[in-house]
Amino acid sequence: MQGYIEAAESYFRSKVVRRSLDDLARDYMELDVLAVLLAWDAETATGRPRVPNELVAQACRDHPQAFTGFGSVDPLKGDRAVDELDRISELGLKGVKLHPSLQAFAPDDEKHWPLYERCEELGLIVLFHTGTSGIGAGQPGGQGIRLDYARPIRLDAVAASFPNLKVIAAHFGYPWHTELLAMALHKTNIYIDISGWAPRYTAAAMPRRIGDPGDPRASASEGADRQRQAAARPVVTTRQPG
Ligand SMILES: [Zn+2]
Repeated sequence: MQGYIEAAESYFRSKVVRRSLDDLARDYMELDVLAVLLAWDAETATGRPRVPNELVAQACRDHPQAFTGFGSVDPLKGDRAVDELDRISELGLKGVKLHPSLQAFAPDDEKHWPLYERCEELGLIVLFHTGTSGIGAGQPGGQGIRLDYARPIRLDAVAASFPNLKVIAAHFGYPWHTELLAMALHKTNIYIDISGWAPRYTAAAMPRRIGDPGDPRASASEGADRQRQAAARPVVTTRQPG
């Protein structure tokens, strides 16, 4: 991640601290929180090494009280990416994290439909990075990273075409969170994750719409159920104050 980390550190105004999985597991057990570990494969677009699905699955097996995990496939690898989904399911991982900006793919391009179809068949959740990106921020050309691929509205076609596929939009899609709210109110298979933001920012943007009992468009329980509270280690710590 050389070259990415420096820009992300200045964007999040926090130091990326490298810790062992054992240390991390201890932290989460102390907090009595289950962390979701994410594998990573953006080899085609970035030429950078993967974080293999096997490594994440092994960490989950080693620390079942601290970790659960999502795999990763590189959508630009086509059929090989679809085949890898079976492996992810066999490994016991719960879903797949995709990052349209860093993996350089348009999630609403129907050539990726076989990927979602297989996830739906296997019961794998698809977690998409949405909104802006700390990686590349403040750099010329954003280090070549396109934000338009990560607009939440691109996931609307995915959720509409695969009604039994659980779609999670990470980081609430900022600054396009209003379109994401409309989608989550419209489609029951769209979920909103609020990781990566300090609570003082999410409180201002999100609960006023979804989960606000005074809002006739969303029942409190329904909306709250489909928001996911989380940090985004290592750039935002779990203990960060609001
Ligand atoms: Zn993300």
